Amino acid sequence: MEGRPLLNRGLDGLGTTIFAEMSALALATGAINLGQGFPDTDGPESVREAAVRALRDGRGNQYPPGPGVPELRAAVADHQRRFYGLDFDPDTEVLVTAGATEAIAAAMLALLEPGDEVIAFEPFYDSYAACIAMAGAKRVPLTLHAPDFRPDLDALRAAVTRRTRVLLLNSPHNPTGMVLTPAELAAIAAIAVEHDLLVVTDEVYEHLVFDGAHTPLISLPGMRDRTVSISSAGKTFSFTGWKVGWVTGSRELVAAVRTTKQFLTYVASGPFQYAVAEALALPDTYYTAFRDDLRTKRDLLSAGLTDAGFTTYTPQGTYFITTDISALAPGTDALTFCRTLPAKCGVVAVPNSVFYDHPTAGRTQVRFAFCKKPEVLTDAADRLRKADFSG
Ligand SMILES: *Cc1c(COP(=O)(O)O)cnc(C)c1O
Repeated sequence: MEGRPLLNRGLDGLGTTIFAEMSALALATGAINLGQGFPDTDGPESVREAAVRALRDGRGNQYPPGPGVPELRAAVADHQRRFYGLDFDPDTEVLVTAGATEAIAAAMLALLEPGDEVIAFEPFYDSYAACIAMAGAKRVPLTLHAPDFRPDLDALRAAVTRRTRVLLLNSPHNPTGMVLTPAELAAIAAIAVEHDLLVVTDEVYEHLVFDGAHTPLISLPGMRDRTVSISSAGKTFSFTGWKVGWVTGSRELVAAVRTTKQFLTYVASGPFQYAVAEALALPDTYYTAFRDDLRTKRDLLSAGLTDAGFTTYTPQGTYFITTDISALAPGTDALTFCRTLPAKCGVVAVPNSVFYDHPTAGRTQVRFAFCKKPEVLTDAADRLRKADFSG
């Protein structure tokens, strides 16, 4: 077994996800985990009860239908109509997946062939690089720069080549909290139409836009038949362990993604699919209260981080605040900072540097999750304020 490394070389450097490393560090040290983006409070009791009921009633305990249970596909279609005025046929234009993660993987494996190029804004969610590599394709990163992380649309236009097949977009954007504006969405749609590109949109934070509202790219002119729109229940309903996601798009695109999806998990999360169908039908008050609660938490943590000496970039959406540590800990890079943070003051965060190909753009950026109880955020901010970062 000499010579060639065991791991597919396209996956070099993707050994253990940073979330696993930092969550393990949090467990080992008992630190407050503001690294991985999961809420420390479960979602609505009625939705939990719906899962229990499904399980007890024997719904979903055996393999559910490959495309997802009809109740959930109908609920996804209703949700798209209710929030965005979009019509999808629940039988052919909706596909249930094992979270957004599987939807992204299935979309990449379905749409890409070796040698194809995928343009994505970096820093990117860590599964993107892995999925593009598993499809044998090449990632073409476009760097979002602090302080406001706006996309450079001229750079996007210039990055398109004959080999470009997919634009992979994430808005609201993890980790920066950037939300694409209507003008940016229109420009991106125009580029996709002009160059006949497919677009995959990761919209898992669709209900966490703090000012204004989320607009799915698929709703723009020319995008209905070239966009694979992805979302999931994890973030919206605070059940990240349930892994219920979905794809909406044209019949042809959904059929393509279904083809690869069926050989990844085939199906998943049977009883939870019924519960998520009920969750999606919750009244508007659920969605607005959830967003308002997270906005309050954002403001609480943001003030605490600023107080502790971090440069904070206020996110327009998501669960996360990106900060810069260069004023606080001069000369320290984000990875070193995050590896020593638990010992220093009992807090875990995530270095954004690992989400960039760019060698320096994210070197001193650290991400904190604020989807935690207010007292936890206050405690973490206190610890950070008292810590000594000079040495
Ligand atoms: C959390 C997250 C996902 C994964 O969603 P699951 O439904 O848990 O698989 C995908 N994309 C982004 C940007 C995320 O933050």
